[in-house]
Amino acid sequence: MFVHVLRMEVNVGILAIQGGFSEHESALLNCLKENGGVIDGVALRVRKVTEICDLQDLNGLIIPGGESSVNSQIMSEEMIEELANWSSNQKHFVFGTCAGLITMSKNIENAFPGQENHFSKLAKLDVTTSRNYFGRQQNSFEGKVFIKEKQISKYDENMSEICFGVFIRAPAIVSINSVDIKLLATVVVDNKEIIVAVEQNNCMGLAFHPELTNDIRWHAYFLSRIVQLCES
Ligand code: GLN
Repeated sequence: MFVHVLRMEVNVGILAIQGGFSEHESALLNCLKENGGVIDGVALRVRKVTEICDLQDLNGLIIPGGESSVNSQIMSEEMIEELANWSSNQKHFVFGTCAGLITMSKNIENAFPGQENHFSKLAKLDVTTSRNYFGRQQNSFEGKVFIKEKQISKYDENMSEICFGVFIRAPAIVSINSVDIKLLATVVVDNKEIIVAVEQNNCMGLAFHPELTNDIRWHAYFLSRIVQLCES
């Protein structure tokens, strides 16, 4: 007998203004069961988002790293407005890494002139994020990230609560400004625990680059949140 298995169609866009597209695309595809990953029952389509029309039918969006000051120069008011409208739909999920986290933060410390205003409509995370918190390019580092959310660590076969983080001229979250913020991960530098990943409603921001490692947990969590929102 032929059994037809229903698969949920999920469309993910990756804002392709400054690169980072192929790394995020591979990480997403590696999450799927058919590619040896942990997410089952999802028919995934990934596309670049460069224009407003690319937002059509998207369920999730990744805002990759790069240079947030460049983002603020390249992204038009209209594009930011459309992205903001799209992300205010609570069925849509937004995932920002590094410069993406800066773009999504309501308060930016050490901001590029005009940057905070430019992104304000898109900024839905009630946090203060400090740009270049760890220093310059030469202070970039790789280190242990402590995962505080079981729904993320569960995607590791050993349920490990530690992952490897790549921090490139990375920001850090220096203040949580709402009880609605969920703390997802921290790093410890010079004996100080620093927040590097948060979530609020349909938005998640990370200070590091999970797409530059083979660890699919963050992208798997992102896909699982999209599925949850589609089903709710
Ligand atoms: N330091 C960069 C900024 O201010 C972010 C770096 C990154 O995305 N890797 O936007």
